[in-house]
Amino acid sequence: MHAFKIQLMQTKKKTLVIIGAGFAGICMGIHLKKAGIDDFVIIEGEDGAGGTWRVNTYPGAACDVQSHLYSFSFEPYPKWSRMFGLQDEILEYQEYCCEKYGLYLHCEFNTFVESATFNDRKGTWTVETSGENTYEAQFVISGSGGLSKPAYPDIQGTESFKGPKFHSAQWDHSVDLKGKRVAVIGSGASAIQIVPAIIDEVEHLDYYQRTPSWVLPKPDREILDIEKSVFKAVPAVQQLYRSAIYALMESRALGFVVTPKLMTYAKLMGLRHINKYIKDPELRKKMTPEYEMGCKRILMSNDYYQAVSRDYVEVVSEGIASIDETGITTADGRHRPVDVIVYCTGFYASENVLQYEVYGKNGLDIKEAWKDGPEAYLGTVVSGFPNMFTIVGPNTGLGHNSMIYMIESQVNYIMEALRYTRKEKLQTIDVKADVQAAYNKEIQARLDRSIWASGCQSWYKTKSGKNTTLWPGFTFEFRARTLFFNARDFNKERSKVDVREKEEAYV
Ligand SMILES: Cc1cc2nc3c(=O)[nH]c(=O)nc-3n(C[C@H](O)[C@H](O)[C@H](O)COP(=O)(O)OP(=O)(O)OC[C@H]3O[C@@H](n4cnc5c(N)ncnc54)[C@H](O)[C@@H]3O)c2cc1C
Repeated sequence: MHAFKIQLMQTKKKTLVIIGAGFAGICMGIHLKKAGIDDFVIIEGEDGAGGTWRVNTYPGAACDVQSHLYSFSFEPYPKWSRMFGLQDEILEYQEYCCEKYGLYLHCEFNTFVESATFNDRKGTWTVETSGENTYEAQFVISGSGGLSKPAYPDIQGTESFKGPKFHSAQWDHSVDLKGKRVAVIGSGASAIQIVPAIIDEVEHLDYYQRTPSWVLPKPDREILDIEKSVFKAVPAVQQLYRSAIYALMESRALGFVVTPKLMTYAKLMGLRHINKYIKDPELRKKMTPEYEMGCKRILMSNDYYQAVSRDYVEVVSEGIASIDETGITTADGRHRPVDVIVYCTGFYASENVLQYEVYGKNGLDIKEAWKDGPEAYLGTVVSGFPNMFTIVGPNTGLGHNSMIYMIESQVNYIMEALRYTRKEKLQTIDVKADVQAAYNKEIQARLDRSIWASGCQSWYKTKSGKNTTLWPGFTFEFRARTLFFNARDFNKERSKVDVREKEEAYV
């Protein structure tokens, strides 16, 4: 069946296939163009570029990292209107980058990658899609996102609810919340942005919170016209500003991975923030986390505690037992009727998040390779999967700084790998299993000493408790380790295919 489908579809030859047109895919595409490599396609399931920032259009959607840092280092944008970018502006920035660097010519939208299969004899990848094309490429670069697969809770009766219900990442803008009784399930990063944004519209809000988040004030403000003019006229000022923000954000890693005791000061700030806006002692107690600050993602908001203090908000901490046609029943047997349910239940992040099948050397299924949790070397290459790169792969996530910095580091590493492969006329490179194992042993040992191991449950970890998402150090260390491609870490092969056959294959 598999082979039959490949025969029916048109097979196009490319040097590289990039999966996903979010920041990762865009960054990769730009670097290829800059290096004069044009022979690539970017396959994207959505109807345009932007990834996270195209999909998450929920009310209040915004970034937790300052815009000047949450953007490419090589493409400063003097137009940012706020210190912390809103969803539409970040999307606009990504579209601007695609336009400027001519990436749209390479994009195939509304097309899902269904599988990527390594051909041992040819040393190439066959990428099957939901569209009319199948691709054969020397390299596959996954930029399919660490937080792009929405997670729903497993609650009995969910389907029976008669009113509108949707996930924060699939916001249904046709639903008017005015005068409605709304249930928000989940109290993480999306929820703390959504609740203040919808609070003036709803008649009543049931806010289902299993564990409260630590929420600090957000140092957000409009960027003045005079500042924008200076940034435009003197780009070095904007660069300096970016560096200052980076240094400030990076200093937070001290508390996460060096001396968790340093979180004490931030914790005091968090408690002061709660006490300032929540006067009801019972609600204060409900909203005060019991775990160490930093163990779960620290959130930022200036209007969240005011919103949950409204008298028509009920913070429900009893677990949800079931959902029926008209509402939600909690473990204590109480039924609360609602008109709309919003799932703010996050994304799959710690298990295998790839939304397509991957078969490497000798048909090795990535699900099998990752059965104990995803692992890679430098978050970028996986042993047994030659010429495949994973941007925002295992253990590259951050609790304290901009993901764009990590993406740029990984893209640099991939470019170094491509240069080496071309220079040495290699067909494949495959990271050695022992190199990957030693690296992951180090990463896990460091994570065991971090704040994330201080005894909370979080989406950073697999069901068995392994942290497969976070980078356990300073981001500049990651940058240093991805600066050069160390060929000794890799098994290398020249083409096994007859030159004539290969030329035929790439016509
Ligand atoms: C709500 C939200 C808020 C966030 N806020 C921050 C923040 O404040 N700071 C920060 O640093 N990071 C934040 N992040 C993390 C954010 O995801 C990264 O910063 C960054 O956007 C990741 O880019 P990406 O290209 O790797 O992934 P994405 O932006 O997720 O893009 C991946 C793309 O791949 C596509 N794709 C996936 N599978 C397939 C397939 N099989 N076929 C075709 N296409 C496919 C998807 O459609 C998507 O467009 C946030 C994430 C979310 C969800």
